[in-house]
Amino acid sequence: MSLLEKVYDPENFRQTAHHLADMLADNLTANLNRETIKVINFIDPDTNYNNWKDKEFGSPEAFFREVINNSIQLQHPRYVGHQVSAPAPIAALAAFEGMMLNSGGAIYEMSAASTTLEKVVIDRLKGYFGFSDGDGIVTSGGTLANLTALICARNVKASNDIWNEGQKEKYAFMVSEEAHYCIDRAVRVMGWGDAGVIKIPVDSKYRMKTECLETYRKEAASRGVKVIGVVGSAPTTSTGIYDDLNVIGRYCQKHNLWYHIDAAHGGPVVFSEKYKDLMLGCDLADSITVDAHKMMMTPSLTTMLFFKNSNDSYRTFAQKAQYLWGDADQEWFNYGKRTMECTKIMLSTRIYALIITYGIEVFGEYVDRCYDMGGIFAKLITQRPGMELAVQPDSNIVCFRIVHADIPIANEINRKIRQAILEDGTFYIVQTVLQDKVYLRVSIMNPFTSELDLIDLLDLIEQLQNSLE
Ligand SMILES: *Cc1c(COP(=O)(O)O)cnc(C)c1O
Repeated sequence: MSLLEKVYDPENFRQTAHHLADMLADNLTANLNRETIKVINFIDPDTNYNNWKDKEFGSPEAFFREVINNSIQLQHPRYVGHQVSAPAPIAALAAFEGMMLNSGGAIYEMSAASTTLEKVVIDRLKGYFGFSDGDGIVTSGGTLANLTALICARNVKASNDIWNEGQKEKYAFMVSEEAHYCIDRAVRVMGWGDAGVIKIPVDSKYRMKTECLETYRKEAASRGVKVIGVVGSAPTTSTGIYDDLNVIGRYCQKHNLWYHIDAAHGGPVVFSEKYKDLMLGCDLADSITVDAHKMMMTPSLTTMLFFKNSNDSYRTFAQKAQYLWGDADQEWFNYGKRTMECTKIMLSTRIYALIITYGIEVFGEYVDRCYDMGGIFAKLITQRPGMELAVQPDSNIVCFRIVHADIPIANEINRKIRQAILEDGTFYIVQTVLQDKVYLRVSIMNPFTSELDLIDLLDLIEQLQNSLE
């Protein structure tokens, strides 16, 4: 067999794939049963580099094994760190199939299944957000979806044909100061600079102070900057608190502003009877970003961007690429016209595999489980005298800290505790800074994280605190 024949040998593939599936299934078992002791085996980057660079592997299986061992274990119930899903196996399998088929998603003829399912998925789900006549796309990540939405808003709301003529006026979006940094970045990508993103302060619950919107808008106008839209957070990344989407929506209607909701994390509450009111008012939005790789159990990156007005979905890139698409304007099946991406990996099958296997209700059940556990964890924290919450959580994101009368000392203690937990490795949590205070931050992404796990985490934190003193 020639080298390239070996590369594509079907029997080789079959064996290696079976072996890999076995390894991943064993790893999943060990994680779910908590037989794996360490969620993360933290090794400093230089040491890790030296470990890897000259390592030899007798087989691809040995290599795959080493990759598993050197990776953070998202499927472990004691992983409670950043908001990345513990992928549902069926969604990961759909992704694997997509990688092997590798249909490029810019044009229909190259991607019949994933393109058609993109429309099916958007059509099946858009009604939950109140967009019964809407449309949308699936794209690679919330960052890209937010940028796409803001570019579209600019094309729709600007006073001239910006896409062709360039910009003639100064514009801005208003957004909570707690919004995800990618909004700020998107505005700067559009060339609006500092003046293009107006940060609205938050109240003591970390919600956008909507009563400030009008003052800030007028103040911008007096500087010659025209506000064309508002971005609501559902919820903000660091605190997990939802803005008052209804109030922002009514404000935008009144002033004819584009309303984008960044629901990258928390949009899927619309599938939950218990938590859907957190998205109350989302039907007032013009566009909504929802990451399936956060609260819908798909692998990263899998993001939906919904538009209330289906025409808007075609207005982001008013550019012609004749060699790809020909003339007709609104061909739903040529998604490359509506996304930043040209070649796009197969994304819709990951979401649809979950829907056909378990039903749409699986998303609501997942949200309920994780958000309920956020509330339970908050209660456990309030029962510990030495700890405090940043805010009563809305979601599965909980920020808390060890209290100390002196803020710099408190910050030092909480930072050291987070570092000690990282090095300990039996849990994975992160940290954030809110109004100059360092907080420990937990997101409960795994539906099997239990109250007992969280009690153990708080015990560990207290132990670490004692050992610091
Ligand atoms: C995670 C997140 C993003 C960024 O999304 P990516 O999919 O990581 O690009 C944007 N906004 C919010 C609110 C988020 O939680």
